[in-house]
Amino acid sequence: MRALRSATVRSTTDPDELREIQLTKLRAGLAEVLAANAFWRDRLHDVRGWGDFERLPLATKADLLADQAAHPPYGTNLTYPLERFVRLHQTSGSSGDQPLRWLDTAESWDWWLKIWAEHVYHAAGVKAGDRVFFAFSFGPFVGFWSAFGGAQRLGALCISGGAMTSEQRLRNMLDLRATVLLSTPTYALRLADVANELGLDLRGSDVRVTIHAGEPGASIPAARGAIEAAYGATCFDHTGMTELGPTGHSCSQRDGIHLIEPEFIFEVLDANGNPSDEGELVATNLGRWGMPLIRYRTGDRVRWSRERCSCGSPFVKLLGGIRGRVDDMFTVRGVNLFPSQVEDIVRRYPEVVEFVIERRRERQMDEVSLVIETVAGNFSTERLEADLRQALGVRLKCRVAERGTLPRSEHKAKRIRPAGS
Ligand SMILES: [Zn+2]
Repeated sequence: MRALRSATVRSTTDPDELREIQLTKLRAGLAEVLAANAFWRDRLHDVRGWGDFERLPLATKADLLADQAAHPPYGTNLTYPLERFVRLHQTSGSSGDQPLRWLDTAESWDWWLKIWAEHVYHAAGVKAGDRVFFAFSFGPFVGFWSAFGGAQRLGALCISGGAMTSEQRLRNMLDLRATVLLSTPTYALRLADVANELGLDLRGSDVRVTIHAGEPGASIPAARGAIEAAYGATCFDHTGMTELGPTGHSCSQRDGIHLIEPEFIFEVLDANGNPSDEGELVATNLGRWGMPLIRYRTGDRVRWSRERCSCGSPFVKLLGGIRGRVDDMFTVRGVNLFPSQVEDIVRRYPEVVEFVIERRRERQMDEVSLVIETVAGNFSTERLEADLRQALGVRLKCRVAERGTLPRSEHKAKRIRPAGS
């Protein structure tokens, strides 16, 4: 029955049918949650129709962190006894928060892998015969493990790049003739930089697909272009969160991300909490009932379109992918900007290998400058400053940092930092 339903969902193109499937899944899961989950029991009410759903309160990461702090170590968002859970992961803590712990049951882990195999890898054209290299350290962060498990489920050969230097990873990829690379977009460019220094030929390698997550880079045209030029491969984006699961993947039209609607309910809300085409993405997962999230504010700023996509996907599209984190937005002389907009200019310069946006508050104003690291020592910032000014409408001062002084990350790169740090 479950297999049959899943087959129907993949092929459904009717929005009403999709909504019906979502509501059925939600109601079945919610019945268990309301009966046994202390975190949600008092916050939620029974949902009979969409009107009831829209009256459910929104939840934030701060709510979850506070709950885990008050009820260590896992908090009260548990629908089942602890014995039912088989995996523990945690968020990266990259935003400076305490890491959030997250548990999965065997069923919810299987749900993760199924979405990777049937949606994310499927969209990128990754198949059973592929050799997939994971350029990650395999710590407690869930992304690597779910991507690895999903590729294995697909029947691909999965190669861990844990506990390796960048050079070792490159030599492994080449020696083992990997066809697919998974990494953050920044780290893919870092690997390309190292390959360049070592004289290794990435363009001539077997890598034909790269899949990236953790940062918006693969949906930023200039960053995607830089990765594709370095590898001679097609670059795909994937969105997801430790707390929520894998939520989306690049559209083959290359102008956005399709959200995996059979497995989540997505909403976009404006600053007043009203439905909008542009605002914060809010999500409810429909396959992780041991530790579920209902109307969770992702903190991701998006614009979406329900217009039918020419790629054939019936699912809603985030135009241009995730534009940025709501809390990463900065303001220069009244203009609201996201690091991704700066990255789209910076990545047009192959000489630039790393960058960071420095922000200092002066007289209630953001004073922002861009610090870059380049391959050659004699890079003139004038042209870059002019391009930034033209694209963003405001002036950003650029400064060249010494080679090797900006932070390197194989995880989420921090693109904004306070000046002086
Ligand atoms: Zn599409």
